[in-house]
Amino acid sequence: MMKYQETVRQSAEYLRLTLPLMSRQDAGLHPVSYAIWYEYVAGINKPLKIAIDELTRNGMVLDEAATDDLFRRYIAELDEATAQRVTAEFQKVLADISQSAAQAGNEANRFGNTLAHWSEDQGEAAADAAADKGIDELLSGTREMQSAIATLNVRLDESRAEIQKLRQEVEQAREAAFVDGLTGLVNRRGFDMALAACLSEIETGGPGPSLLLADIDFFKQVNDTYGHLLGDKVIRAVAQILKANVKGKDTAARYGGEEFAVLLPETTLDGARVVAEKIRTTIEGSRVRRSNNNQEIAQITVSFGVASYCAGETASEFIERADKALYVSKKQGRNRVSLSPAGPKRRKAGRVPKPLAV
Ligand code: GH3
Ligand code: MG
Ligand code: MG
Repeated sequence: MMKYQETVRQSAEYLRLTLPLMSRQDAGLHPVSYAIWYEYVAGINKPLKIAIDELTRNGMVLDEAATDDLFRRYIAELDEATAQRVTAEFQKVLADISQSAAQAGNEANRFGNTLAHWSEDQGEAAADAAADKGIDELLSGTREMQSAIATLNVRLDESRAEIQKLRQEVEQAREAAFVDGLTGLVNRRGFDMALAACLSEIETGGPGPSLLLADIDFFKQVNDTYGHLLGDKVIRAVAQILKANVKGKDTAARYGGEEFAVLLPETTLDGARVVAEKIRTTIEGSRVRRSNNNQEIAQITVSFGVASYCAGETASEFIERADKALYVSKKQGRNRVSLSPAGPKRRKAGRVPKPLAV
């Protein structure tokens, strides 16, 4: 969505108009109020303008709640990219005004000092009353300006802290989007991203990457026998064991309900098989207890499919091969590790695939 299409010069002008309006309100100086007042002065949001004019009739100002409400009602459909742009622009604005405020502050101080000296000198020389009055006005004007600048600086500091907090919140929300809530492992989206990143930076000739897919055996029975809550506890226990058995650049993910994936970027097929066996036997040897009576539940086992990447295949072809190997483990009786044979597309490293004839 291209919502803001103003030229740079135009938006600088809007900005100049936005700041005084914004600072007159009771709401903090932050991207939300910036967005509102920017759209107001730019005249690109009629309903918003009508609402603001209505609210600010008779010299009323907007507080935090009213600002938030306006944003939600008239602007919140901002897509993420635009929201980020608004935040980035706002930060730039803040940096600019804080710099000019600091400069203005220095100048005002210098001016104030000069005037003060001058007034002392003049005082001794018994200057006439009219001149004194003029100087007093100038001095008090300067003092007002100094205190206005000090206030602005305090507000700027507050806003900077708010923006910092906002940025952290956005960051946290973004991270949360890739984490599975039940287990704390990376979720499927996070895994797909890790795999894409891994495949994009493969070094020819190096070992790996390899991939494990794991699926809890007869999990439906666990739920049916002990209940869904205990099912969740089993999923968490399996996740813990996965986590404990991967390291460094490896990514352990909850791929689906009771399915897991582990990406081992620098591991051969045989290395991956060893990791899978280790995890399999650890799970086989562990016992989950019911929380209410501390009783052990029936043994939990997991089946594995393991594949090592073949040059030229796509991420989904790679996953598909590990999935087929997992299916073999299930068919052959579960609680085992099966390896995928090399993919059909194996090519000599570095050779460019022949284009399809058309
Ligand atoms: P198989 O050995 O062939 O994998 O048998 P299975 O019973 O594990 O396989 P199936 O795919 O039929 O059942 C998976 C079950 O996992 C079904 C679903 O209710 C359960 N499940 C999926 N996600 C969760 C979850 O988050 N918590 C719990 N408790 N159960 C879940
Ligand atoms: Mg399953
Ligand atoms: Mg299963």
